[in-house]
Amino acid sequence: MIDLEKENVYKGIPAAPGIKIANAFLFKKEIEKVTDEAITNVDEAIGNFTEALAKSKKELAKVFSLAVDKLGRKRAALFEAQIMILDDPVLVNRIIDRIRAEKKNSEFIVNDEISKYQDIMTLSHEQYMRERSQDIEDIKNRIIRNIRKKKWKSRISTGEVILVSNSLTPADTVLFSRMNVTGYITNFGGLTSHAAIVARSLNVPAIVGLHDATENIKNSDKVIIDGFNGIVIVNPDDEQLLHYQRKLKKLEVVNIELAKLRDLPAETLDGKKIDILANLDLNEEIELIIQNGAEGVGLMRTEQIFQEYDSFPSEDEQSEVYSNYAEKLYPLPLTIRAFDIGGDKVLPVDVQEPNPMLGWRGIRFLLDNEELFRTQIRAVLKSSIHKNIKFMIPMVSSVSEIELTKELIAKCMAELILEKIPFDEHLELGIMIEVPSAALMIKEFAEDVDFFSIGTNDLIQYLLAVDRGNDIVTNQYQGFHPAVIRTLNFIINEAKKTKTKVSLCGEMAADYKAIPLLVGLGLDSISVSGSVIPHAKKIIRSLNYSEISVFVSQCLKCKTEKEIHDKLDKFYSDNFSESSNEFYSN
Ligand code: PEP
Ligand code: MG
Repeated sequence: MIDLEKENVYKGIPAAPGIKIANAFLFKKEIEKVTDEAITNVDEAIGNFTEALAKSKKELAKVFSLAVDKLGRKRAALFEAQIMILDDPVLVNRIIDRIRAEKKNSEFIVNDEISKYQDIMTLSHEQYMRERSQDIEDIKNRIIRNIRKKKWKSRISTGEVILVSNSLTPADTVLFSRMNVTGYITNFGGLTSHAAIVARSLNVPAIVGLHDATENIKNSDKVIIDGFNGIVIVNPDDEQLLHYQRKLKKLEVVNIELAKLRDLPAETLDGKKIDILANLDLNEEIELIIQNGAEGVGLMRTEQIFQEYDSFPSEDEQSEVYSNYAEKLYPLPLTIRAFDIGGDKVLPVDVQEPNPMLGWRGIRFLLDNEELFRTQIRAVLKSSIHKNIKFMIPMVSSVSEIELTKELIAKCMAELILEKIPFDEHLELGIMIEVPSAALMIKEFAEDVDFFSIGTNDLIQYLLAVDRGNDIVTNQYQGFHPAVIRTLNFIINEAKKTKTKVSLCGEMAADYKAIPLLVGLGLDSISVSGSVIPHAKKIIRSLNYSEISVFVSQCLKCKTEKEIHDKLDKFYSDNFSESSNEFYSN
């Protein structure tokens, strides 16, 4: 056992499973400080500046070609835009003119001129422009560093590293995963923040909410990251290292065992079959999903798939992507979720909301932006010819939202008929159950839809009034809160009464501890990240449904989440061998 009290051991929120031992790579934006200095040799200063400019361009061109390789042309365009700024003759000439006229050091003038550029962007009404102001900061620092002839420390390191940073955006997470980053540790972020979801999708261990990680971990420190238990060990001693090397070996054995389950059903010992579907967040996940034996895609987050596009993808761009996945999965189903924008996912229009989680998100945004919604519906319909596509609506809270969506779908179908474009006339429509009002309206909603998918990430947040991405209140974000478990029980029972299919695609289904509970509650299907599928199968195949239903009825009577946690811990130690228990529970 690891002594959690040792001073080199830190505990955070386990956001993506796995164990890695590697050197730390601190990701921090370095800011060059400049002072206003008088100079005597103007020509030398101008020479230094033009040399630094040429060097910066060369460096950026290298980064750009690497980024095209790793990220694709669209995402890499960011670096191309940076090169264009360095090529701007107005900016370059103004800097040179000012060095000559004011006889000041070139770093100072560069800083002053590029900061003006940056200020304009920071004050922009457009969020996109404001975000780009950070890139300008990078350019400024690069030129100044080159004027000072400082060695450029490339962000793109070689060898496997564990990235340590203050926080990460989903895009950072993807970017770094393609740069030999084998683990993530952040000061901030919650379990269901999208960076954590992306890390899980990429099968890279991650620990978030470690608060002082960037203080306690130095560049190149040897780090053990245990994403199963949220443990980080900095510069481990021999005993700690040995413990984790052994764990890694055991994990290899468990993984080989798991691979053998690929073609076996997720069926309890007494014959209850659970469909294990996959959540699809990133393009590269599709192979893993198929390879791990998913029975279809239960949630395709379209806002995530298209996030690298500069603007909203056109009907053709979308239908190309949907058709490609539908064909790859055929005959398995592909559940496409309509764009869930707003909330923690950036809005494409510039609106400052005081409380975005309760604001313009999901279906509310889509119905107010009908053209955009129509484009997506038409693209989904056009891709549905193989009849394995389902469509799902996020953040539904009232019957009228379903009715308006159905009217729009009917309109789009009528258009396609006129245009003689084939589609699946029986395309199934489902809704996410992630708002408490929807949970209470299952009976009525069932009359209008073909299936439900429970989104526990949001349902927990709205039921308990706890922001899913705020690590300050992470202790209150309790999936095992009795109110959550009872709400899930209510939803599943109500859905069953109306014979409507119900699945669960929130991260709770990927929590090994929660799986027995979800099966016992009577779910017939769950949707999880591709990397979790074999683990979920293993757990389900060792359960006895009749026993677990009795166990769950006891959990439903519990008064606190602690009682439920304790019961599940005991369940695991009674039912799983020590070696798997070590990974599935902490
Ligand atoms: C959820 O809320 O549980 C869900 C699956 O949707 P998202 O995480 O994309 O909000
Ligand atoms: Mg949600």
